[in-house]
Amino acid sequence: MLGRRSCLCCLAAAPLAAATLAPTPARAQALPFCRYSLRDGWSASGPSEYITREARPDDPSGIPQIVARIRQVFSIAVPFDIYIAEKEDNAFAAVANGKKILVVDVGFLEKINGTARTQWGAIQVVAHEVGHHIAGFSQDRHRGELNADYWSGQALQRLGSAMEAATAAIRAFGSDFDTSSHPNKNRRAQTIERGWTDARRNYIDYSFCDACR
Ligand SMILES: [Zn+2]
Repeated sequence: MLGRRSCLCCLAAAPLAAATLAPTPARAQALPFCRYSLRDGWSASGPSEYITREARPDDPSGIPQIVARIRQVFSIAVPFDIYIAEKEDNAFAAVANGKKILVVDVGFLEKINGTARTQWGAIQVVAHEVGHHIAGFSQDRHRGELNADYWSGQALQRLGSAMEAATAAIRAFGSDFDTSSHPNKNRRAQTIERGWTDARRNYIDYSFCDACR
């Protein structure tokens, strides 16, 4: 119980390490399947300029610690690497050069928390991205997003979030209307709530996991 709170606190307060721009597999080729963003697309030529470092397990951002807790509540061992980006207002899950990656702009998560008025906002975004790696990437983009939303609801309930807090981020930042990439925020919030409710009765609906079949 206390562990997840400490993660949330360090997420909000941690200073970002200096950008190193060290070469990484993710820099060479990153194909974002999901962009959970305040705006559509990257601000410049591509994500590689903004991936500043690979996050180690003790990264001051708190992101790997949150991911570790999510792995723990599901008892999953889906392998993927975590990278920290800056000034992108974005988070995404992707497969780059055959490797599963999760890329997070910590400042973006802080903005989400501020607007959603709960630190569960950031956790939901991270859990959504982890959900993409759990569920697999669907050819149907809306289906893929709802799959990830379902798993985020599952994760947040298991981590101790209230249902209202679990949907705060999507209600604050989601679109009122369907877009080419994402369903509208009401449908997404309903799916998060479904995951949350299923988790409360210790049930998982594997129809939200293409990779589990
Ligand atoms: Zn997504």
